[in-house]
Amino acid sequence: MFDFDVLKDEMRELEEKGLLVKIRTLESPQGAWLNVDGRKVLNMCSNNYLGLCFDEELKQAAIEGIKKWGVGPGAVRSIAGTLDLHNELERELAQFKKVEATLVVQSGFNANQAVIGPIVSEEDAILSDELNHASIIDGVRLTKAKRYVWKHKDVADLEEQLKAAKADGARRMLIITDGVFSMDGDLAPLPEIVEKAEKYGAIVMVDDAHGEGVLGSNGRGIVDHFHLHGKVDIEVGTLSKAFGLVGGFIAGKKALIDYLKQKARPFLFSSSLSPAETAAAIAAVRKLSSSDELVKTLWNNAEYFKERLKSLGFDTGHSETPITPVMLYDAKLSSSFSKRLFEEGIFASSIGFPTVPRGKARLRIMISAAHSRKDLDFAISKFEMIGKELGVIK
Ligand code: PMP
Repeated sequence: MFDFDVLKDEMRELEEKGLLVKIRTLESPQGAWLNVDGRKVLNMCSNNYLGLCFDEELKQAAIEGIKKWGVGPGAVRSIAGTLDLHNELERELAQFKKVEATLVVQSGFNANQAVIGPIVSEEDAILSDELNHASIIDGVRLTKAKRYVWKHKDVADLEEQLKAAKADGARRMLIITDGVFSMDGDLAPLPEIVEKAEKYGAIVMVDDAHGEGVLGSNGRGIVDHFHLHGKVDIEVGTLSKAFGLVGGFIAGKKALIDYLKQKARPFLFSSSLSPAETAAAIAAVRKLSSSDELVKTLWNNAEYFKERLKSLGFDTGHSETPITPVMLYDAKLSSSFSKRLFEEGIFASSIGFPTVPRGKARLRIMISAAHSRKDLDFAISKFEMIGKELGVIK
């Protein structure tokens, strides 16, 4: 038998460095407030941007979905698992995103695995922002394409890498970027990326996991935000954040989506979304299409919270979205801050290496439309108190 005790030493080392991930169990549903470890705490770390995790209309739609379609899809979609409900979701999602077609898979993580592999091979090049999400990195690793990593958001460096890929004889060049960078909340310079792609004949793919339901009109995402409809070849999205569910999708031209249905491995070899999730996702798309009220509340909350923290003297990095990093740099300090917040009734995760680079530890505060002004004021007062106590602010 393998001696798994050797892993314990590694865990101890992580703990000493303040890098051990503390996994807490929720004793109540995802909402603005949670019961965790017997304590009532304000939830400041979920991706439930619009509060849809616990939305009555979505819950009802999921119940109706189960009543009509049962609980499981029965097979992978290409064999006998595509329900009419999946097709309906894909049609409505395509309308919402203003694209020809979409393909829904089990998660945003899988959506990246589904699309990257089929469109490049060893004759091709992938150009990836250095801070792209782990699911993109893994998707890239599964291909034989040559990799070119460009400096974060640095379009001049992207151009250098495009030139190098071209000089190396690449057949296709695929530029991949996060839309919203998930740990910093900053935006990809998508208009400039599109410009370079047009100049060099490259394909553009954006992973808009944190932009869906957040950016653009009614939360249509980063392409809508920058008015780039028809100029970005591939959009990857998730249903697991603002949509309040679980699932992922690819949006683009019908020819791409038809091809992925023949080639995408998570589509071909793993069962699909359940009827409950699919029906609730349709309800979420309809909800967002019909009103932008929740998106506006989210942005008002985010601007209010960020302004207050900044005026207290906190470093909130370069965020342009509701993701609010509170930069503490030192992993141990960040971990202690998170611990003290929890004791004071605030659930906010400390993020360290390898999720963010070494020496860039932070609290990652996730603002939601579900937060009331009173909730935000409560959080701000606790940040002020603990910030002074730990010498982070004066
Ligand atoms: N892409 C990005 C940029 C993300 O932040 C995430 C979630 N952490 C994902 C993909 C994965 O999405 P999901 O949780 O739906 O698998």
